[in-house]
Amino acid sequence: MVVFKYSKYLRKYLEHIRSEGLSTGFVPTMGALHAGHLSLISQSRKNADITVCSIFVNPVQFNNKDDFQKYPSSIENDILLLEESGCDILFMPDEQEIYPDEASKIKHFEIGPIENILEGKFRPGHFRGVCNVVEKLLKITEPSHLFLGQKDYQQCLIVSKLIKLLNLNIKVSICPIIREADGLAMSSRNLRLNENERKTAAKLHESLNNIKTRLPLENFLRLKQSAISDLEKKGFRIDYLEMANADDLELLENINGNYNAILLIAAFLNDVRLIDNLMVKD
Ligand code: AMP
Repeated sequence: MVVFKYSKYLRKYLEHIRSEGLSTGFVPTMGALHAGHLSLISQSRKNADITVCSIFVNPVQFNNKDDFQKYPSSIENDILLLEESGCDILFMPDEQEIYPDEASKIKHFEIGPIENILEGKFRPGHFRGVCNVVEKLLKITEPSHLFLGQKDYQQCLIVSKLIKLLNLNIKVSICPIIREADGLAMSSRNLRLNENERKTAAKLHESLNNIKTRLPLENFLRLKQSAISDLEKKGFRIDYLEMANADDLELLENINGNYNAILLIAAFLNDVRLIDNLMVKD
């Protein structure tokens, strides 16, 4: 695996790769890698000739300073995991490389209302930060194919919109959520849970599964209220638990045969914020 810290050298290297007629798959991450990230690397290796992964903890997408400062980092282990998984190129820029000045952090993209609902409502400015970094990374790497995880479902829709808005010819693949044995969606933030919290955290997925099973017969709003009150009793602080149209995240109160619906949840266990989602139809 070749490791780059500076975009100008990475660009040159990738220009050479493209000139040989090879396709490139790109997997952007914030590091503290786990099997969820590695599944994206594996998808990229199946679909593209050369796989590029980036590790950059993007300060601009954190609306909470503490969350940014406590974001887990395990760069040596990440490099080992990427080597083992057959990743070809790792890009690990520092902040100066991505944001040389203040003005480069605050570009606004007309993504539309989807930017300000659900995650966007509870993490103001988050998606603007995501769009800023993704635009820069895509301009540096110019991939043929981008691999994103369904774990961050709203981010997948927003990045797809951004790619359309920027008129980039990049195929986007949304890869399934990789879970721990007890159902907890893998996440770098899970490293911040203590033993008890880690056990409790699996209840998030359990409650989405429970709603999904009961939805054909029961009213969503009643299922939602009962799930929220159960989760609160277990110590969660819920930001949202919603059902939405999976195409545009318009909120739904009832399951309707015409909709491709998704359940989405965000909740805190102490100061660790967890998200998860589940398609209502498989
Ligand atoms: P992050 O490092 O959290 O920014 O995530 C980098 C990429 O990995 C994003 O596209 C995430 O959606 C994806 N990802 C994170 N966790 C998982 C998971 N458990 N399963 C699949 N993809 C994931």
